[in-house]
Amino acid sequence: MMRIIAPFVFLSVLFQLVPSSKVTAQIPVSGNPVYKPFSEVHGKVLKSLPMLNSNPLLKDYDVKFYKLDVQADNESDHIHGNVTMLARVQHNPLSTLVVELTSSLVVKRVLVDGNEKQFSHEGEEIIIPLGNPLDTGAMVMTQIFYGGQTGEGMVTETDEDWDMPVTYTKSEPFYSKDWFPSKMNLDDKADSVHIFITTDYGLKAVSNGILTGTTYFPNGKVRHEWKSSYPIAFYLISFAVADYIEYNIEARPAGLSHPIFIQNFLYDRPGCLDTYRDQINVTIPIMELYCDLFDAYPFRKEKYGHYLWPWGGGMEHQTMTGMANFEFYLVAHELGHSWFGNYVTCATWQDIWINEGFATYAGYLATENLGPEYADGERAYRFESAMREPDGSVYIPAEEADDPSRIFSGNLSYNKGMALIHMIRFELQDDEVFFRTLRNFVSRYANDVATGLDFKEVLEETSGMDFTGFFNQWYFGAGYPIYEITWEQQDQTVILQSVQTTSSALTTLFRMPVEYRLFYPGGDTTVRVYQLANEESYIFNVPHPVDSIQVDPDNWILNGVAGVQETPQKKSRSEVFSIYPNPSNGSFTFKLVGELEEGRSERSLAEPLEEPYGNLFRDITVEVYNVTGQSVYSRRYEGFLPYQTYSIEMGDLTGGIYFVRFGYENSVEIKKIIVE
Ligand SMILES: [Zn+2]
Repeated sequence: MMRIIAPFVFLSVLFQLVPSSKVTAQIPVSGNPVYKPFSEVHGKVLKSLPMLNSNPLLKDYDVKFYKLDVQADNESDHIHGNVTMLARVQHNPLSTLVVELTSSLVVKRVLVDGNEKQFSHEGEEIIIPLGNPLDTGAMVMTQIFYGGQTGEGMVTETDEDWDMPVTYTKSEPFYSKDWFPSKMNLDDKADSVHIFITTDYGLKAVSNGILTGTTYFPNGKVRHEWKSSYPIAFYLISFAVADYIEYNIEARPAGLSHPIFIQNFLYDRPGCLDTYRDQINVTIPIMELYCDLFDAYPFRKEKYGHYLWPWGGGMEHQTMTGMANFEFYLVAHELGHSWFGNYVTCATWQDIWINEGFATYAGYLATENLGPEYADGERAYRFESAMREPDGSVYIPAEEADDPSRIFSGNLSYNKGMALIHMIRFELQDDEVFFRTLRNFVSRYANDVATGLDFKEVLEETSGMDFTGFFNQWYFGAGYPIYEITWEQQDQTVILQSVQTTSSALTTLFRMPVEYRLFYPGGDTTVRVYQLANEESYIFNVPHPVDSIQVDPDNWILNGVAGVQETPQKKSRSEVFSIYPNPSNGSFTFKLVGELEEGRSERSLAEPLEEPYGNLFRDITVEVYNVTGQSVYSRRYEGFLPYQTYSIEMGDLTGGIYFVRFGYENSVEIKKIIVE
């Protein structure tokens, strides 16, 4: 889902679509682009922190099917009716059936396999003793008659923009119990669902799947009969009732023999359809793009759908998404959930990344493909949002896993989650492998649930690379790296030193590839290095006078830059280290010979010392690099004295050019040596 909070600022910008099979119209999008900051909180003020039900009895059965047969209208948040749940006993013999239902709803009758049963409704659980325990594998049909005041999962609200009263459900993350008896375990999808809503004639009820029938009753009521035969998570079961009109379109993705039906419900108000028609039509190229990138639309035998609702954002109810408006970013994000969230669902709320990180990335891919001129801006916006949480992780810590505002943190679950996926793409350096990973993941966990580590496994299998460090840093770890760069050039050699700190004490190092762009008069060149320690130095061969260096110029990684400084270069007259012989056979000697600081020279050192001798001790580092920038020798010498000599034995070096980097105090000197 995606909650829109900021006031809506509309700047009409048109951009031309990349050629698409069906749509030649221009896509209206908002903004330059204007991104609406959002966070994900539930529409109502929470009465109390909703707790995840950990009753082990809920694990004893597997929901196969729900049939909801309920009455609702657009002016009341009361519901009445009955729900039939078909379940299969698993794990243990089942002697007590537990179903979740909020306490404000009153249970009237319970039938189990057609027989009246005693029950109790304690807190938010209906407890039904079964008498004779049912064996593992047995099927059990429970029908619960209930009604009354719903909880926050179902509300009646007037959409002020159109003066339209709407009753709608919104069950994510754990509110289905607020309006129908259900089992709120993510890892138990119902295999199919029927949702029959009886309402007043003149109103329409919209829901998941296909409208298979409309039955009119003589009392002025009409029953809308929706059926879906795809597996569905409890929180994606939904309906809305309002005075809707219907606007239908089709997408024709390449390779599919049948078009995908896209059914949209707008308010029956003058101008409503006209306001949204062009934006709704953009669903077509986005659908065609996602089918191409991820896999054929998972629910293609039924439909994709949208309906307007008064809630301030979108919610990806399977095959029927609730929408506050039809902004490009909202349409793309919510449609992305069809693959990431609905077809493959997070296995725990701690792994909400699977839903929101990936849907946000899907939205970014829509921008990248359909409005590429906006991609840099969108990425920058999302990265900046992620960096507003310098101590935050994408994985939801266990102690916060029942807090909806933390689960749906826009900065972390959405935008930092999006950044992780972009960085995985950067690590891979191969879009073919990247998109194959996404497709492999979707197909392996189709109609199922997955954790972040499940994605990691598919990623590693597909790429052949190890992402353990990446996930420890970026998924479970907190914050982001901050780079401080110093560099210098001698002739054609650029020495770049990167000191990495991090925004959070929880994660002290991000082992990452980093790109640097070296600018010189008339051009630039980009190099990619791996930073594996907090301090690293690299040597690049650049046959141009470099005048500036940019860190991560294409904004691939979530990072801060503490500074990029060119260190003052030592001119030849002030060289302080000598090295000999050069060329050598790999063994050479160096000594400190020149000025160490203003006013101190070789001559002055030869004279009697007026100050304490200890002031002359220097701590120096000596590093030797080959021409590819690999360090082949590194040592720190403490208390090194002027005119002291030191020999380095590197007789096993292969012949060629090497660079010796002397670091002392705040300066650096580099010598080129030749090994024969
Ligand atoms: Zn979402």
